Amino acid sequence: MSTYAEFYRRSIDDRDAFWAEQARLIDWKQAPRTICDNSKPPFTRWFAGGTTNLCHNAVDRHLQTRPDQPALIYVSTETGAERTYSFRELHGEVQRAAAALQGLGVKKGDRVLIYMPMIAEAAFAMLACARIGAIHSVVFGGFASVSLASRIEDATPKVIVSADAGSRGGKVVPYKPLLDEAIRLSSHKPQSVLMVDRGLAPMESVTGRDHDWAALTGKHKDAQVDCEWLDSTDISYTIYTSGTTGRPKGVQRDVGGYAVALAASMKHIFLGEPGETYFSTSDIGWVVGHSYIIYGPLIAGMATIMYEGLPIRPDAGIWWSLVEKYKVTSMFSAPTAVRVLKKHDPAFLKKYDLSSLKALSLAGEPLDEPTAQWISDGLGRPIIDNYWQTESGWPILALANGVEKQRSKFGSPGLPMYGYDIRLVHESTGAELTAPGEKGVVVIEGPTPPGFMQTVWGDDQRYVDTYWHTVPGRTVYSTFDWGIRDKDGYFFILGRTDDVINVAGHRLGTREIEESISSHPNVAEVAVVGVADSLKGQVAMAFVVPRDAAGLTDTASRLKLEGDIMKVVDEQLGAVARPSRVHFVNLLPKTRSGKLLRRAIQAVAEGRDAGDLTTIEDPSALQQIRDLMAP
Ligand code: AMP
Repeated sequence: MSTYAEFYRRSIDDRDAFWAEQARLIDWKQAPRTICDNSKPPFTRWFAGGTTNLCHNAVDRHLQTRPDQPALIYVSTETGAERTYSFRELHGEVQRAAAALQGLGVKKGDRVLIYMPMIAEAAFAMLACARIGAIHSVVFGGFASVSLASRIEDATPKVIVSADAGSRGGKVVPYKPLLDEAIRLSSHKPQSVLMVDRGLAPMESVTGRDHDWAALTGKHKDAQVDCEWLDSTDISYTIYTSGTTGRPKGVQRDVGGYAVALAASMKHIFLGEPGETYFSTSDIGWVVGHSYIIYGPLIAGMATIMYEGLPIRPDAGIWWSLVEKYKVTSMFSAPTAVRVLKKHDPAFLKKYDLSSLKALSLAGEPLDEPTAQWISDGLGRPIIDNYWQTESGWPILALANGVEKQRSKFGSPGLPMYGYDIRLVHESTGAELTAPGEKGVVVIEGPTPPGFMQTVWGDDQRYVDTYWHTVPGRTVYSTFDWGIRDKDGYFFILGRTDDVINVAGHRLGTREIEESISSHPNVAEVAVVGVADSLKGQVAMAFVVPRDAAGLTDTASRLKLEGDIMKVVDEQLGAVARPSRVHFVNLLPKTRSGKLLRRAIQAVAEGRDAGDLTTIEDPSALQQIRDLMAP
């Protein structure tokens, strides 16, 4: 076995040979001709000439060796449902779903938007799309009609798959009215809507458009739908994510590069072996759900747990009881979830037999040291902080303990993963920073590795303009994260350089929230900033200049308007985007040229020094915010 340092160097210096080796971890119908085609930077085509299929690799190829082994373990503490599907059963379900989609006219390259709670049918729908070469676009079930509409508009799906309702903490959250409203708002209309009826909420059906999942898949009981062999560089899916501008971007991913990247990560980073069980507590609406609930574990021949419910219901031991029951070997969660558990009795961590568990990976937001220490002490298992983004599809910084056991350092997500040539550059000059402890922007030298986004769906120019920044002599991919590197090469991530905030691991654009708040008739101007929060990492805080402040003289009327504004955000974007507070001011701090001083607002809201204010138009604007924040 090589050391990780050697392994990493080979991935950069002998890139094609390295990735050709990794490519052998998956099945190809036709072997790739070119490993890395970087002839048109910054676009990279991985494994060109090869043909493969994600669903084949996740399901069919295990039918020979492990047909009766658990593949998908579905557990809902919301409805009490618990069911294990073997690879053979999963194969059947996916073929029925594929036949149903084909029956609705879905063909290779068509988009299918999936707006679903955490139910097994969502996994069947994703895998069915992959099987027939349709491009899935999963939208997080916590988003509401306006968020959903903008994604429908951009993805132009032929079919939308959804369900009557989700459930959270025992409370039914109807999806159908939000979906109907989103379709009404969107200029693109899907031909068909396929609805799973969980019997949780009544649904109004649109004749000719809406179809029932059970009825339609039931018509294809013995369906045999072969995998469509796709070019490695064909599109597997798009997933929307937030950036600086209000309009979400469709992160577009390929087929072969993604399959190889996931297979390699399961081996080198997540230590997953065929026959073992993986439990990621994420949601299929996020990239972690795509990579490490659905595709990664299944490609590795593991059983994967799909969990609908809270981490503390019926009690804070629920996840650990699942680890014991299903002998989970690798677990993946987010720091916020651990901070939620931390409020409960630590005895829950000791109540179950966790001897099967090799490691707990945490990602999505900064992992603070006390949280890492608490869970590490409680579980007595390695905690692997790992850093990545929707754009990357798999970890950028982590520890590849499958290659060589590495020392972890709390507060650091670790080292650059193989395939990633990571640098730190100066924010404005782009000059490379090499001295330990220097703070810079984390960037990636092209070509980006397999699994990385191909482009922004439908907008190559936006991909180039948004992510690829000129530094002396070349362009590099910007992660939009601040970072520092210590003398051992370990990175520390210090937050975003742009207007993206991270609330409980959910990535939100402050501009999207501002746009939503602006639609309230009594809002003249608004600034939304992310403010540090001990539980959620960050929360959104809004500062609003009302159009008419005359009626806002007493606390009750201010609270009423605050509540009304929160309701608008709930209805349009979803409760995940709801600001924790809406404060009213009569002007916002701006520069003399009219630019909002977001960083100054954020600093003051967090009780920090506002920094350089030489360009401020009217210092009293910031003083108002200071007064509001005073205890
Ligand atoms: P998302 O695309 O939703 O996965 O969000 C990606 C962003 O989350 C990154 O750009 C970081 O700002 C943040 N992030 C993800 N993982 C970590 C981590 N382990 N430590 C610090 N920040 C993280």
